[in-house]
Amino acid sequence: MCQAFNDAAIVPLTTGRQNRLMPVALLPVPPTPAPSPPASLIWFRRDLRLTDNATLQAAATHGQPCHAVFVFDTDILGQLGNRADRRVEFIWHSVAALKLDIEAQGGTLQVLHGSPRTLIPALAAQLGVNAVFAGRDYEPAAVARDAEVATALIAQGAQLHWVKDLVVFETGEILNGSERPFQVFTPYKRAWLARYAAAQQPANSSQSPNTTPTPVLWAAPRAPVAMLSLTEIGFLPTNLLQLGIQPGEAGAATLWTDFQTRIGRYRETRDFPAVKGPSYLSVHLRFGTVSVRQLARFAWEVAQAQSNTGAETWLSELIWREFYQMLLWHGPQTVSQPYQSKFAALVWPNPPGYFEAWAEARTGYPIVDAAMRQLNQTGYMHNRLRMIAASFLTKDLHVDWRLGEAYFAKTLLDYDQAANIGGWQWSASVGTDAQPWFRVFNPVTQSRKFDPHGRFIRRYLPELAAVPDQWLHAPWTMPASEQAQCGVCVGRDYPPPIVDHAAARAFTLELFRKLAPSAHA
Ligand code: FAD
Repeated sequence: MCQAFNDAAIVPLTTGRQNRLMPVALLPVPPTPAPSPPASLIWFRRDLRLTDNATLQAAATHGQPCHAVFVFDTDILGQLGNRADRRVEFIWHSVAALKLDIEAQGGTLQVLHGSPRTLIPALAAQLGVNAVFAGRDYEPAAVARDAEVATALIAQGAQLHWVKDLVVFETGEILNGSERPFQVFTPYKRAWLARYAAAQQPANSSQSPNTTPTPVLWAAPRAPVAMLSLTEIGFLPTNLLQLGIQPGEAGAATLWTDFQTRIGRYRETRDFPAVKGPSYLSVHLRFGTVSVRQLARFAWEVAQAQSNTGAETWLSELIWREFYQMLLWHGPQTVSQPYQSKFAALVWPNPPGYFEAWAEARTGYPIVDAAMRQLNQTGYMHNRLRMIAASFLTKDLHVDWRLGEAYFAKTLLDYDQAANIGGWQWSASVGTDAQPWFRVFNPVTQSRKFDPHGRFIRRYLPELAAVPDQWLHAPWTMPASEQAQCGVCVGRDYPPPIVDHAAARAFTLELFRKLAPSAHA
C-alpha cells in the first residue's frame, strides 16, 4: 500500500537523533483517524450521585458515550468569606466519591476549578460533544449562569438538555385553577399529592425511581484524570468529619436507612431538639447525594399502606421544600424583597449590637443561645429552633430578616436559598402563607414546651448545666439564693436577657399594624 505524503503542512519537526528540521515532503501523514462517535457531556451540579439520577438517565437514553464534569465554581466560591467552609468540604468529599464510582464503571469525572460560564463551553468544544446534560437549578443566580452557558453552547453547535432532578414537580407543573402559581401551601400540597398519586398508577410506572445506579455508557477516559485537592481550590479542612457527617451517596444512604426505621414516629418527635426526630438529610437533598424521588416514593407508599401519620407529615416537609423552590422560581425578587409587597415599606430598627448578640449566642434567652451555638459549632440547626431563632431576631430584636437570612446562608451546612428565604420570610411574617404578623413566639414558652428538661440547652450551654429545670428557660427569674446555691450567677456566668419579651412583642405589633391596619391583633 502506498504511503501518503503531506506536502501542504509545513511543520518543523526535530528527530531525537538528528536534531534537525526534516524536509516536509518526507513527512508521513498519519492515517486519517476515524471520526470519534458523537458523545455527550454530563455536567454534575446539585446531583452528586449515580443512583436514580434523572440527568444520567436522560444522557443514557440519548445513547451516546458520556463524558462527565464537575466544576468548583469560582463565581460561588469567591463569595465565601471563610476558607474553612464545611459546605465546600462536603462537596469535595462527595465529588471525590462520585469520581471513584464513575471510574469503577469505566468512565471518569473531570474536576475543574473556574467559572462554568467559560469552562463548560470550552470543555464541550475540546471533547467535541454535541449534547450536554445537566440538572435544572431554580435559584435566580443559577438560572442566569445557565442561560449564559446555554447560549455559548448553542453558538458552537452543541445542544443543552436541562433535566428535572432536584424536585419531584417543578416550576409550572403544579398550578392553581387559573394556571397561576399557588400562594398558599395547603392547596399546593393537595394539588401536588393528587398529581403524584396519578403518576404512581401502573400506566405511569416509568415515573418510578430507580434503586440501582443508572447504566451509562461512559466515554473511555483519554488519560487519567486527577482529583483537585481541597487546598488547590483554595479551601481548608473543617471539623465536618469529626462531627460525624458522612458526605456522598454513602452518607445519605446511612442516614436514610436509619430514618426509615424512625419515620413512623416523626410527627411526635420532630419538634424536640434533644430527640433524634428528623432525618438530617437536608444537606444531602441540597447537594443531590440522595434522590428526592426515592424519599418521596417511600414516604408516600408507607403513608398509603399503613395510614402512617409520621410518613405523611414527613412527605409534607418534602412538599414544603418544593413549594419554596416553586415560589423562588416564580418570584426571584423575593431573594431580597418580601413576598407580601405591602411589607416592603417596613423599616426594621436594627438596634446596634443586637444582631451580633444573637449571632454570638449572647441574648440571655437560653433556647435562642443554645440554638445559635448548635449552628455555629455544627452548621446544623433543628427546624423548631430555626423558627424560634428567626422569630426572636426579627420580632424580639427588631432586626431585618435579611441579616438573619444572610447569617444562616453563611453558616448552614444545608443552606438552600429557596428554603432559607421561605423560612425567614415565614418567620418574619412577610412571606406568602407566613406566620401571621400578630403571632409572636414567646421564647420562654417555646423552650418549656420543646425542651422541657433542658437536655438540649444543657448540651450547648454547659455554663447553665447546674441550673434547675424550673429556672433554666428564664434564668434571670432565678432568685439570688438559688443562683448562689447552683453556682450560676446571671450577669456573671450568663448574660441577662437582652430585651423584655412582652415589651418587644408590643413594639412588633405596632410596627406591623401601621402597614397592615386591617389585620387584627
Ligand atoms: P426533616 O424534618 O427530616 O425534613 C426532611 C426534608 O424536608 C428536609 O431535609 C428539607 O429538605 C425539607 N424540609 C423540612 N422542613 C422544611 C421547611 N420548613 N421548608 C423547606 N423544606 C423543608 N432548610 C434547608 O434545607 N435549607 C435552609 O437553608 C433552610 N433554612 C431555614 C431557615 C429558617 C428560618 C427556617 C424556619 C427553616 C429553614 N429550613 C431550611 C427548613 C428546615 O428547618 C430544614 O430543612 C430542616 O431543619 C432540615 O433538617 P432535616 O433534614 O432533619 O429535616
